[in-house]
Amino acid sequence: MAATAGIHCSYFVARKRRYCKLSPAIGKIYCGEHAHLDKDAQAESNRKRIQCPLDPKHSIYEDQLKHHLTKCNSREKNKPIYYEKNLNSGSEDSDFDLKVTLSSMSNFRVEIYHGTYQDNLH
Ligand SMILES: [Zn+2]
Ligand SMILES: [Zn+2]
Repeated sequence: MAATAGIHCSYFVARKRRYCKLSPAIGKIYCGEHAHLDKDAQAESNRKRIQCPLDPKHSIYEDQLKHHLTKCNSREKNKPIYYEKNLNSGSEDSDFDLKVTLSSMSNFRVEIYHGTYQDNLH
């Protein structure tokens, strides 16, 4: 027990302003809970960052280029017409549906309410 005393996980808990109290396995710097950080750190150094082809203002991991191109913010900004068109047609439809549903719902509910109310009186 004394051998591991004082050895703690290298994960710094910013919220608590101290290191993780759990003991790491022999030869490791992180505990089992934070062991994935060790792997991430190693993988990180092997990865190459490149400029985003859609917006050079930010960089991405080269191996995530394909994935990034499908969700890049700059890609969204380049297609505002498509977006607006979609939103407009969508809201028209839902407004119409909402009115119909609300008016028929409130009539229905009033009937139910009166029915229940009388039932409770008996
Ligand atoms: Zn830990
Ligand atoms: Zn991007």
